[in-house]
Amino acid sequence: MDLLRTLVAEPSVSSPDPRHDQSNRRVVDHIAEWCEHLGFRVEVTPVPSSPEKANVVATLGDGPGGLVLTGHTDTVPFDAGGWRTDPFELVGDDDQLFGLGAADMKGFFGAALHAAQRFSAGQLREPLVLIGTADEESTMSGARALLAAGRPTARFAVVGEPTGLAPVHAHKGIMMESLSITGRSGHSSDPSLGASALEAMHRAIAELLRIRDELQAAHHDDAFHVPRPTLNLGRIEGGDSPNRICASCQLTFDLRLLPGMSLDGTRELLRARLGALFDPAVLTVALDGLVEGVPPHTTSPEGPLVRAIERVTGRPSRAVMFCTEAPFFAALGMETVVCGAGSIDVAHQPNEHTSRNELDAASDLYAALIHRFCVEGRDV
Ligand SMILES: [Zn+2]
Repeated sequence: MDLLRTLVAEPSVSSPDPRHDQSNRRVVDHIAEWCEHLGFRVEVTPVPSSPEKANVVATLGDGPGGLVLTGHTDTVPFDAGGWRTDPFELVGDDDQLFGLGAADMKGFFGAALHAAQRFSAGQLREPLVLIGTADEESTMSGARALLAAGRPTARFAVVGEPTGLAPVHAHKGIMMESLSITGRSGHSSDPSLGASALEAMHRAIAELLRIRDELQAAHHDDAFHVPRPTLNLGRIEGGDSPNRICASCQLTFDLRLLPGMSLDGTRELLRARLGALFDPAVLTVALDGLVEGVPPHTTSPEGPLVRAIERVTGRPSRAVMFCTEAPFFAALGMETVVCGAGSIDVAHQPNEHTSRNELDAASDLYAALIHRFCVEGRDV
């Protein structure tokens, strides 16, 4: 509780909007200090794309294999007016603990450190690695930096996002795109004087909806509440006057990808299909990512880590709709499962909360996993 209270009290908002964006260093430094106190070897590494932020990687024990327990150190911005309590003060009782990041996901570090302190390096046949990342809520630059560096490596990773302690073996991916069409303005009385970007966008939207239908026909997974990939038209802007041919029109949209679909492959498909609609001498089309995108994640529901969490919690594994850093750890070669205390339903909104009981249960789960995968290790 003391750890969680300290972390909640340290603002670490990350946001694409620079007015809200803050460093996560004080949260990282607290985690580093506690891990050092528990005998971990600790590395705090600034994130190349935003050097005022950092990842912390703390390792107990030596050798190959082992278990990663990982969480993000940042929170989303908050609406001060909506909170009944100070968002930077942990308040409540055993049943409900309120605070910004209590569930998503500073509570994870309290639970993970509480679990880790039950073990010493000498007990571990395979290492335990505790990680705190930067910028999960905005760019995922922290997890991307770990992947770019090719470490850490381990056999297994648990991403402690709030799942009500159910193991999550799959989630969708997301890409957010901006489509710009540029034509030529002119007097509306003679269409031959210009090239309407607005009419071109009308055709482009029709093509996007056709692509959506095709993707939905090709990809399907009943593990998800919405079992198909989705495409949402979010915002459109173009033109200025009824008597002027519109020279420029922009559309933003998102795509939610199922496991088996790739960000790059989907973007290639969109570029090729939208580009083929128009004569580039008359109308130009540009498709740009608004964000870098997060790949979909999946691991086998029969994997040893999924099975171990199911045994401890009694909850079957499932798929969720929100994105996490899991695909980056999976890309480092680990069987990666999302599982943590609290509910995603109360995250990203005023009066976010978790509970001491849930955090205790999370701590017991993480301790059981450390015992299984680090103390017993490969031999079992
Ligand atoms: Zn989160």
